[in-house]
Amino acid sequence: MKIGILSRNRKLYSTKRLATAAEQRGHEVHVINHIRCYMNIASFKPSIHYDGKVLSDFDAIIPRIGASVTFYGTAVVRQFEMMGVFSLNESVAISRSRDKLRSMQLLARKGIGLPVTGFANSPADTDDLLDLVGGAPVVVKLLEGTQGKGIVLAETRKAAESVVEAFRGLNANFLVQEFVKEAGGADIRCFVVGDKVVAAMKRQAQEGEFRSNLHRGGSAQLIKITPEERSTAVRAAKIMGLNVSGVDLLRSNHGPVVMEVNSSPGLQGIEEATGKDVASLIIEYIEKNSKTGSNRTRGKG
Ligand code: ADP
Ligand code: MG
Repeated sequence: MKIGILSRNRKLYSTKRLATAAEQRGHEVHVINHIRCYMNIASFKPSIHYDGKVLSDFDAIIPRIGASVTFYGTAVVRQFEMMGVFSLNESVAISRSRDKLRSMQLLARKGIGLPVTGFANSPADTDDLLDLVGGAPVVVKLLEGTQGKGIVLAETRKAAESVVEAFRGLNANFLVQEFVKEAGGADIRCFVVGDKVVAAMKRQAQEGEFRSNLHRGGSAQLIKITPEERSTAVRAAKIMGLNVSGVDLLRSNHGPVVMEVNSSPGLQGIEEATGKDVASLIIEYIEKNSKTGSNRTRGKG
């Protein structure tokens, strides 16, 4: 097969691993910097160009779209879908997962366990909003934050009010969430491919930090998850419409709660912690599922 990996940097661990795994399985691989792609949005023959050349005959693409370029990146993915190319994760699903509020609403709709979460627009409602999620301590999150940036733990009501006021002043959209203290600064990353959790790790935040992101100095180790955690992760991925995803769970007093579903989960942490060849499992999934024109949405917004 001819597989395109949409990535801005071919030296990134995940990009390299996916490229190597695909080559080892006999595929032709091209790493495409999606930011450099330009498009011809025509009814009959949509096309994608790169550095003066037309990108054609791809069987499948693997989008690795960074959070800062979601808008343009998903447009490129959509264009591939319009051309009938199989995308490992479809553009609508990627956009969905990048908006924390939208994701939470979709998951709640289907009865997935979530931390109690509130959202309000008017400053007049701050007081009530904080009560709604059970009062301090609360976690305040920017809707489009990633890698632990834009997430604040407000331990007192006064602190919560100040953070909310500051975010409002910046015209930022955010949500307010119950702080799941009993998780003890740890979360569980379930790496889902198709309808299976193929690897899972526990990430523990550094001393004095509540965010367990590896980018924030968290440490990772292999973990055995419960059947309930497994089924929650698989269901969450399915609801989001993602074929490959990283579902992050917290172990709360009321069972596993989903914090977020990532559409471009990194491979380094999970492969190192679990010793699993996740990259090859992803390529295998593409081999089995990538019939031309088999995208569900075919470029629909
Ligand atoms: P990001 O997209 O920036 O990774 P997350 O929502 O995953 O944002 O939050 C980052 C980290 O902060 C999580 O991995 C978790 O360790 C911690 N965290 C986030 N929300 C909560 C919460 N409600 N209760 C306890 N810890 C949380
Ligand atoms: Mg996270």
